[in-house]
Amino acid sequence: MIAFGPVPSRRLGRSLGINNIPPKVCTYACVYCQLGRTIKMRIERRAFYEPQEILKAVRDKVERTRYAGESVDYLTFVSDGEPTLDAHLGLEIELLRPLGIKIATITNASLIWREDVREDLMKADWVSLKVDSTREDVWRRIDRPQGTLQLALILDGMLEFAKTYRGELATETMLVEGLNDSDDHVRQVGDFLARLRPSRAYLAIPTRPPAEEWVRSPSEEAINRAYQILTQRVNQVEYLIGYEGNAFALTGSVEEDLLSITAVHPMREEAVSEFLGRAGADWSTVHELIKQAQLVEMAYEGTKFYMRRPHRR
Ligand code: SF4
Repeated sequence: MIAFGPVPSRRLGRSLGINNIPPKVCTYACVYCQLGRTIKMRIERRAFYEPQEILKAVRDKVERTRYAGESVDYLTFVSDGEPTLDAHLGLEIELLRPLGIKIATITNASLIWREDVREDLMKADWVSLKVDSTREDVWRRIDRPQGTLQLALILDGMLEFAKTYRGELATETMLVEGLNDSDDHVRQVGDFLARLRPSRAYLAIPTRPPAEEWVRSPSEEAINRAYQILTQRVNQVEYLIGYEGNAFALTGSVEEDLLSITAVHPMREEAVSEFLGRAGADWSTVHELIKQAQLVEMAYEGTKFYMRRPHRR
């Protein structure tokens, strides 16, 4: 299906997905890929669908969605493979413009060293780049790229893109236990992100069945440490730990609000105290959520933090 949704997305509100690539045609074969193993690994760009076919599928879906009284915040290229492999990506973005909806692209950035790919991505309003590692050996183990790809060129391509991109730039780093979750490694990723200066850096963990059965998400402590390390280097760091929906909605229920805030950012002990005070509640609420295994308490550099227990596998 070329157009699907709209689905609720923490990052993009109500996002109507565009699948411009046949299943699992990708430049990577990430160990954590939720689509299973890469069927066709390739790095040459080519046409997969007629751009007019994409436009028609998306326009029909937008019309049906609006007719049902629902809204769409973003049209998002989020494929069953790598969207920049589509040689018509830029043209498709141009064709979709008259629909008057913002356009996003979620890419693994493996082809961003190519000028034509950067030019295509420039046309989107929101772009997310994958930055799982800045170390060649780790990158090869976690993302398992096509053999001729070179990480140094990809990282340079990202910096080049970020220099001139005028839309909203996000990054996504997937943490896998034992592969890229050490403090030292996260620091290196953070140093690169500090140069890239995305408007938001997302930290993700595998929450759905991955391509490789042995893949595990890091412990809550490791996730929190990674968050703290990145926060020292990048302004806006947020978790993507398996809760889509509207994580910012204040519902008036102390429990729900604590869970939705801590699904995005860990909260310091003082911040929780203040929040409880304002809500007229006390620490028994927090202790109950911990007992129910919905919230976890962790320490980092002598400070206690609370985070929503991630959806992990
Ligand atoms: S880049 Fe995305 S689609 Fe490709 S293997 Fe990795 S997770 Fe799967």
